[in-house]
Amino acid sequence: KVSRKSKSKKTVITVKDVKIGNGDPVIIAGPCAVEGEEEYIAEALFLKEAGVQILRGGAFKPRTSPYAFSGLGVEGLKILAKAREITGLPVVTEVMDPRDVEIVGKYADILQIGSRNMQNFTLLKEVGLVDKPVLLKRGLAATIKEWFLAAEYIVNSGNEQVILCERGIRTFEDYTRNTFDLAGMVAALDLTHLPVIADPSHATGRSELVGRVALGALAAGADGIMVEVHPHPEEALSDGRQSLDYEEFKKLMSVIKRFKSQS
Ligand code: PEP
Ligand code: MN
Repeated sequence: KVSRKSKSKKTVITVKDVKIGNGDPVIIAGPCAVEGEEEYIAEALFLKEAGVQILRGGAFKPRTSPYAFSGLGVEGLKILAKAREITGLPVVTEVMDPRDVEIVGKYADILQIGSRNMQNFTLLKEVGLVDKPVLLKRGLAATIKEWFLAAEYIVNSGNEQVILCERGIRTFEDYTRNTFDLAGMVAALDLTHLPVIADPSHATGRSELVGRVALGALAAGADGIMVEVHPHPEEALSDGRQSLDYEEFKKLMSVIKRFKSQS
């Protein structure tokens, strides 16, 4: 169902006034995690001013160490909803547990399935019952076929609004956090009618690489990018090393605006 063979026309997903997959790449940005109300609202206002169309921020965070900050939970969801109210921008946030799908669906405009949960079939079926778009990240060791079959689970449950996100895969290379699979992303754009976006933050793990990888993805035809931004990356509670500060993000946005006006 997700392949171009079953539907040659590209799927365009509409969230509030934003369209994903219509040829104009969408910019999603925000901190890795929602860290507090004041901080998040301030950042949301900065991002809106910078031209961001969708806000991100984790409330339920999958962390490698059980001792690391795992997000504000429902309090984080409420902060996201408040940021949406203030900025008018839609918000995307991760849901990790089938038991949380209802509450996350109540607050978020787009439900994110994280890389680690790409093959959590119970969770996939559950978000398939929700009438909101799902952002499905590629598993860190998933083939394109496995990624598409995961999307198929969501579609089969009744939800056809799926956005795929290439966020890097595990290889022997450990200089970067993951290896950004540009060829895989391009192949996915050819093989599915669903929108395909890139996450250069988790794909690289290094802020100095994020901007150029983001531009590479856009040049290759990505339907959007999702970037982690933090006012003080060195103080971030998660993923500071890969987060752009405000100056870096503004610079990236000015290059993206030039790119968009030329294409
Ligand atoms: C995230 O987007 O915050 C995240 C945890 O990403 P991934 O699931 O790709 O690691
Ligand atoms: Mn992160």
